[in-house]
Amino acid sequence: MDTPTESDRIRTLLRRIPAVEALLNRGPLQELAKRLGRQQVVNATRAVLENLREKVKEDSRAAITLESIEKKILAAAEAAAEPSLRPVINATGVILHTNLGRAPLPRAALAHLAKVATEYSNLEYELDLGERGKRDAHTARLFSQLLGAETALVVNNNAAAVFLALNTLAEGAEVIVSRGELVEIGGSFRIPDICAKSGAALREVGTTNRTRVSDYASAITERTRLLLRVHPSNFRITGFTERPALRELVDLARKHNLPLMEDLGSGCLVDLAPFGLREESVVSESLKAGVNVVTFSGDKLLGGPQAGILLGQRDLLSRIRKNPLFRALRVDKLTIAALEATISLYLREDYTAIPTQRMIRAPVEEIAERARQLGERLRALEGFSISVQDGESAAGGGSTPGQSLPTRLIAVTHRTRTAQELANALRKNRPPIIARIEEDQLVLDLRTVLDPEQEEEIFRAFQRLSANVA
Ligand SMILES: *Cc1c(COP(=O)(O)O)cnc(C)c1O
Repeated sequence: MDTPTESDRIRTLLRRIPAVEALLNRGPLQELAKRLGRQQVVNATRAVLENLREKVKEDSRAAITLESIEKKILAAAEAAAEPSLRPVINATGVILHTNLGRAPLPRAALAHLAKVATEYSNLEYELDLGERGKRDAHTARLFSQLLGAETALVVNNNAAAVFLALNTLAEGAEVIVSRGELVEIGGSFRIPDICAKSGAALREVGTTNRTRVSDYASAITERTRLLLRVHPSNFRITGFTERPALRELVDLARKHNLPLMEDLGSGCLVDLAPFGLREESVVSESLKAGVNVVTFSGDKLLGGPQAGILLGQRDLLSRIRKNPLFRALRVDKLTIAALEATISLYLREDYTAIPTQRMIRAPVEEIAERARQLGERLRALEGFSISVQDGESAAGGGSTPGQSLPTRLIAVTHRTRTAQELANALRKNRPPIIARIEEDQLVLDLRTVLDPEQEEEIFRAFQRLSANVA
């Protein structure tokens, strides 16, 4: 129980906490308000004072000085004014890390995007004719050149692309899908759920591990509108398995005059097998094989902005385009600009300019040398033990299950701190550094560390850590 003197002391202290207005009239806070806006400073002041009141109630000996309060408000207001979405350094080695924003955009895409975004553009205007145009025209042209697609549509993401296609082509009727392909992609994209929402009835065929073309054939009725093939992006069934060749499905679809659609997931535009990603089907191969509509993401292996891309037969895509939902799922000019610039880099075969491509193609020897050099510098810091070890990077983003790229990892342990504590400290660095923990070691994979400046930033973060805990 409080003694009277204790609660008296608290009451006195509470009375000494200055009023918001009094603080706001002080020079430093007025300066701050000019920079950040009055409201942000008022909010920070209220929060700091509220905090102080709580503290005083718990501890009547808490020190209250105007200077210390002011300092706290300055720090709180600056922190609140920082953008919430900000760059981080990805040292996880997962190239398409959905939590870390998937594909980092090519610089060229950024330049084009900045120009288009800050000025007027011919987004929906035919300059030759002086008439209204279509926003898809800009990228359709490039996808035709690059992949031989008849035409292309771009929507918000691949989930939207699949949904829109199902809704347009199979609403009120049936779509046939193999039981081995009823996938769930992280973040609640499930083929059965998307199907249900699109109004198409899912007709499952085959079994989890084996589906034959005859399973599809015997499920076709007058209610069938579409055959759907889904890339099992993030899992792999091994052992006693069977899946029809694409060719067989194309033939079956043709025979019954039905469209065949393929959700490719990642959107691999060039063959990445030579670099170790052997199970990604290349978009142009599906088109060549005769698939009528393919869909894939813009920000997975393609390495561009978030988008869902539909390629294929003109009459089908034109029906999809006329769906009123197309308008609800359409993309902004920023996306079109970034996508156009990224595809242009593919046309020029300038793969080093596309970060995801560069990271996938980085030879292990190159990563090993970078790891050796940074490892050596970290080893010189007080308190850390460093070893450079063989390891594996991942494509991530729901691509290439069970496949990985050989890499060299910098493994770090500390004399007094656990790997988890090191990881927490790196996450609080500015910019935040995201690492992995493996077998009680903190590991850094430089494959996804974008440039020497980021490596330098990692070194500086460890320097500060070393100074703080030495
Ligand atoms: C990733 C993925 C999706 C979802 O794509 P988003 O662009 O994230 O909407 C759909 N299908 C497959 C097979 C995928 O791999």
